[in-house]
Amino acid sequence: AEETAKGGALPFESPEIRFTKLFINGCFVDAVSGRTFETRDPRTGDVIATVAEGDKEDVDLAVKAARDAFDHGEWPRMSGSERGRIMTRFADLVERHGGELAALESLDAGKHPGVTRAVDIGNAAGSLRYFAGAADKIHGETLKMGRQLQGYTLREPLGVAGLIIPWNFPTTMFGIKVAPALAAGCTVVVKPAEQTPLSALYLADLAKQAGIPDGVINVVPGFGPTAGAAIASHMNVDMVSFTGSTEVGRLIMDASARSNLKPVYLELGGKSPLIIFDDADLDMAVELAVSANFFNKGEACVAASRVYVQEGIYDRFEKKLAERMKSWVVGDPLNDPRVDQGPQVDKAQYEKVLSYIDHGKREGATLLTGGKPCGQKGYYIEPTVFTNVKEDMIIAKEEIFGPVMCLMKFKYVPTTVEEAIAKANATTFGLGAGVVTRDLDVANRVVRSVRAGVVWVNCYFAVSSDCPFGGRKMSGFGKDEGMHALDKFLAVKSVVTPLRGSPW
Ligand code: ADP
Repeated sequence: AEETAKGGALPFESPEIRFTKLFINGCFVDAVSGRTFETRDPRTGDVIATVAEGDKEDVDLAVKAARDAFDHGEWPRMSGSERGRIMTRFADLVERHGGELAALESLDAGKHPGVTRAVDIGNAAGSLRYFAGAADKIHGETLKMGRQLQGYTLREPLGVAGLIIPWNFPTTMFGIKVAPALAAGCTVVVKPAEQTPLSALYLADLAKQAGIPDGVINVVPGFGPTAGAAIASHMNVDMVSFTGSTEVGRLIMDASARSNLKPVYLELGGKSPLIIFDDADLDMAVELAVSANFFNKGEACVAASRVYVQEGIYDRFEKKLAERMKSWVVGDPLNDPRVDQGPQVDKAQYEKVLSYIDHGKREGATLLTGGKPCGQKGYYIEPTVFTNVKEDMIIAKEEIFGPVMCLMKFKYVPTTVEEAIAKANATTFGLGAGVVTRDLDVANRVVRSVRAGVVWVNCYFAVSSDCPFGGRKMSGFGKDEGMHALDKFLAVKSVVTPLRGSPW
């Protein structure tokens, strides 16, 4: 196979689909009910595999396996360095099988194989390596409490972690949630999204090959209101880490409140701003706006779907953007090396994005580019840029999760950047933000004032295993990646002992 300019290998060879059952206690098993569901190729809508459909009974079995592995198994009891060694083997296997895994993921999610390979496989393996290195560096503190007492803290694995993940970066999400849980010594039940169950099952098999003991990782494909809800409300699940929509995040917190008050961490939707100042490098600004909106077909929680351009550069920016979009290619990412953007993940998402585009048109925004579905079959949508967008329009407020950019203007204010900051912050969300300028003082003022979990200066979408990722406000709380992610899976225990006869 030949590597194409954009990194995909041609001709695309459909991978063999070997794993379609639930993975519980180290074995691939059918659902208790015997039910299955179909996962489809977003390029055509055709079925690519039939997968066991987990429900409450299956979640019970998976949680039991994870509980036993935690309460009696070796994983939480072995030294951190031993866990790290096994996790490193897991990372090696993810990389070694990266081609096949990327092909599987691209087929299931309609993703560009070059992107899947570089981003998803890279992030999953990177995260496993990063947290493998952290596994033997989990330390407590010593506490000088007083003359008659002294103490220390233990940081202990929390127990069984429920990990509920979405369909836009399935392998990345598996890696960044599972890796810190494993490093901490937790055992996990993973619920992949119903649109993209295949990669998590493939990864479970690699984990087993790497030597991760049975019951430590369990994977239950199925639907949200059944399998997902069963995890969120389970009395024997000790924490939940979720990435997905704000609506479902609310349901998960509610399920925790009504069951055992397990801590939950939510990485939710966004409506992230990209602020482009007059002094920005115009070419760079256009490229950043394009990739921040249309990368991964706009299926990114941190997409910068509100682009604010300062008045003095606005007209040139708009013209250049329209020109740039003429060479942006939508099509089959698996078989055409020129393609930038593949199909939306499924029919429901496709229809949702198109209905937002209709809203935009009806609310009176102007189409600069796109605005229609395209292709004979499958779930393709033209990259769409709206101008004349008012702040109170639905397209400016709600997360669309597709290839739709809202382009807006802010005034030239020589001495302040307040208008841009106020606009950027005028959202219920707070996931990401970007600023494009050559002026360090302006950049720093935006950085300090914008309420978001991550701010990118003269770049966008730059992520790494050591860089915490996660939002504020209605984008949720808790971090994936970075050492903060480890804290979600650890409980701090304070230990106090008497101290006798010390003069200090
Ligand atoms: P999207 O709207 O982008 O599909 P969701 O938030 O619906 O995102 O889905 C993210 C993940 O949450 C998926 O794995 C999905 O199955 C799961 N999910 C959906 N509804 C629930 C629920 N009520 N309880 C738990 N998990 C759910």
